[in-house]
Amino acid sequence: MIQIRQVHKSYVTGQNSLHVLKGINLEIAQGEMISIMGASGSGKSTLLNILGILDDYDSGEYFLNGEFINRLSERKAAQLRNRMVGFVFQSFNLVSFKNAMENVALPLYYQNIPRKKRNLIAMEYLDRMGLTDWAHHLPNELSGGQKQRVAIARALIGNPKVILADEPTGALDSKTSLEVMDLLQEINATGITMIIVTHEHDIALRTQKTVRISDGNITEIVVNN
Ligand code: ADP
Ligand code: MG
Repeated sequence: MIQIRQVHKSYVTGQNSLHVLKGINLEIAQGEMISIMGASGSGKSTLLNILGILDDYDSGEYFLNGEFINRLSERKAAQLRNRMVGFVFQSFNLVSFKNAMENVALPLYYQNIPRKKRNLIAMEYLDRMGLTDWAHHLPNELSGGQKQRVAIARALIGNPKVILADEPTGALDSKTSLEVMDLLQEINATGITMIIVTHEHDIALRTQKTVRISDGNITEIVVNN
């Protein structure tokens, strides 16, 4: 599903260049559930952004589902992203003036699906998350766990092959974190590859493998059991 070889990435700001990823090699099979751990600033989000075709890399190779991902046009990148990837973030990234149903439906808007139809589909996904009764509520009327379930429904609605979650439980209490992890595990059990960045050991232990990143290098890959 994912093959990354010798990937390097630097951020250039003015005269300065910061070498963030220093030759990353990683293979992730379809249907795997892995966690990525590492200190703040070690390059986890940078790696996730490259995996999700939100950002380019400088050298190396990245294949996603057999497609070579490198310096794609914005249009091609968006197309592949919409078809392949769902994102979940620590801060949920919901649109504050849209209700839960409209937030879930948003990816279908970009696929030019008419409003009635996309709202119907969004309701099915909200139903799967146990949120039918909350469909017409705005994000600020939802708890953190509910917001993250809306975000997960939004990530799923495009039928992705891989879900990239950047600290999905980072803003949740421990009980809600476990509920969100249950949900991510159920989704993974349907065959969707799952990649989760986390700071928390008990979250990482619920994935099959933990990839440790330190200062832009993968230092260890541990199989959890
Ligand atoms: P992590 O997610 O592991 O905390 P990041 O991948 O976000 O780390 O960041 C790695 C390093 O790159 C940090 O030093 C961060 O400040 C820097 N960085 C991240 N994004 C940018 C950017 N867009 N421009 C410049 N520097 C960045
Ligand atoms: Mg980060």
